Amino acid sequence: MKEQLHTIPVNEAFLSGDECPFCYLQRQAERSALRYVAGAGASYMEPEVRAATDETGFCPTHMKQLYDYGNTLGAALMLQTHYAGLIENFRKEVKHYELPPKKTLLPRKKQSSGEPWWQRLENQSKRCYICDKIHYNLDRYYATFYALLKEEEFRSRVTSSKGFCLRHFGELLEKAEDYLPNSQREWFLQNIFPMMEENLVRVKADLDWLIAKYDYRNASADWKNSRDALQRSMQKLEGLYPADPPHKAD
Ligand SMILES: [Zn+2]
Ligand SMILES: [Zn+2]
Repeated sequence: MKEQLHTIPVNEAFLSGDECPFCYLQRQAERSALRYVAGAGASYMEPEVRAATDETGFCPTHMKQLYDYGNTLGAALMLQTHYAGLIENFRKEVKHYELPPKKTLLPRKKQSSGEPWWQRLENQSKRCYICDKIHYNLDRYYATFYALLKEEEFRSRVTSSKGFCLRHFGELLEKAEDYLPNSQREWFLQNIFPMMEENLVRVKADLDWLIAKYDYRNASADWKNSRDALQRSMQKLEGLYPADPPHKAD
């Protein structure tokens, strides 16, 4: 079956004037995932959704967003069943746990070849139901981006956008391996990199002017585009919106 293309949101993102259209799409996907798990539809009461949240839990970022969202009972119920599984698992792990070998001056022999418990704990804390939903959606958006590149109008929309943040730029390059159409290889090479560079330089110049504005000699000078240069320059590097207030249930 042919995957559905998400042309409307992708086009919208490229017209948004955002520092990164994929940040814009990711924020939308994140909010809708949050609404889906903890919002009025109460998906957390559906057995398949609960089984999934029990299994993965939430990463630190989304745990915090879930807290801020404001559905205390919903979040507590999800954590309650997640805990039940964790405690059961914890008891199993304790039974099999072996201390690392005693410290000695001789070179240490590797103990068992299996994955240590701390590694499983570390992996568990990174797993996240909301991240999984976002990744799924973003993958569809990257596929749509590359499919749309065949259209002249979309290509000019891309070149007149503000480039991408480095995080999503990296993902875009990774996805090029799967989705870049053969007919657009040349265009990609000739347009995407200059556009990225130009926009990194622009954001850096905004940051420079923000700093210069702190010089008393520039106190009365125009802010130009630099008033929000700090948050935009953070977004360009890490793909986040540091100035966003917490997203709360409507
Ligand atoms: Zn981004
Ligand atoms: Zn997450």
